[in-house]
Amino acid sequence: MQRLHSRLDITQGKIELAHGAGGRASDQLITQLFKKHFDNVLLAQNNDQAVFELPTGRLAMSVDSFVVSPLFFPGGDIGKLAVYGTVNDLAMGGATPLYLTVSFILEEGLPLSDLEKIVISMAAAAAETGVNIIAGDTKVVERGKGDGIFISTTGLGRVPCGLNLSGDQARPGDVIILSGSLGDHGIAIMSQRENLQFETQIESDCASLLDLVMQMLTAAPGIRCLRDPTRGGLATTLNELAQQSQVGMLIDESALPVKVEVEAACELLGLSPLYVANEGKLVCVCDARDAAQLLETMRQHVKGRDAAIIGQVQEDAHAFVQMKTKLGGYCLVDWLTGEQLPRIC
Ligand code: MG
Repeated sequence: MQRLHSRLDITQGKIELAHGAGGRASDQLITQLFKKHFDNVLLAQNNDQAVFELPTGRLAMSVDSFVVSPLFFPGGDIGKLAVYGTVNDLAMGGATPLYLTVSFILEEGLPLSDLEKIVISMAAAAAETGVNIIAGDTKVVERGKGDGIFISTTGLGRVPCGLNLSGDQARPGDVIILSGSLGDHGIAIMSQRENLQFETQIESDCASLLDLVMQMLTAAPGIRCLRDPTRGGLATTLNELAQQSQVGMLIDESALPVKVEVEAACELLGLSPLYVANEGKLVCVCDARDAAQLLETMRQHVKGRDAAIIGQVQEDAHAFVQMKTKLGGYCLVDWLTGEQLPRIC
């Protein structure tokens, strides 16, 4: 029998199957938790759909699902990740995010206090990036059939007129810039899971890249492509871009920014920072003429302080990504094979 309670007991309560049944308990969860924190005019329409005017120009749309474990980690949580992840994917196309939809899959028994923390974190991330959460869905699965919470977000954004950032635009001679240190997110998650202790706690870099991108586009409107090296890390992102553009890439190992503690953790875990996930970094390919100006602009921004030119685009019919190692040799930087770090985002 579904219990009737007029107020959600957020401090003591847990998610029950009834919260996903579409009845009174669902309504309480929606009203007292989701709508309370995500409040905006379109969400308040209370219909099965949000209806809004289309802005003029081109639109960008992106979807992502989040299954990270643990749900809370140094530097972030699954909620923040779910908002920034989709906002960043829109920003990589130069789009200003407008709206998000959110879908929650909750496991029976999830403490409502954890859910509220996650929702508050999402609301803060949405407010920071100027995006409204205008539609949502909640489903509940039985205990043992989920892992607390899975979140899926879809984002809609507006692309400024004349801007065409795309992974197929890299040209031989272009310069590759990385916005900051590699591997912080993946190592923050892994050290939580493996219970590794370091002198300084490694925090996830989980952040919105929107403001950095907007400043970069103002400084160098001719940027060819932007991509965030999330799952699969920098190596995977560079291989994607090389393949899309049918070019080769040569990066310089000694130019790659990696924090000392992340490097140490990678050695301990037998990982290469090239393949470890990032959640607040971007790779930019630009015309060599724009590189110095762009680097300067990025370094003035808090999220691009450690930005570095890490390599160049070159002609290569095989679209290989290569790296000049610290020892002066050359190696192939291949696609990530298999699953290195499951449930990283
Ligand atoms: Mg991406």
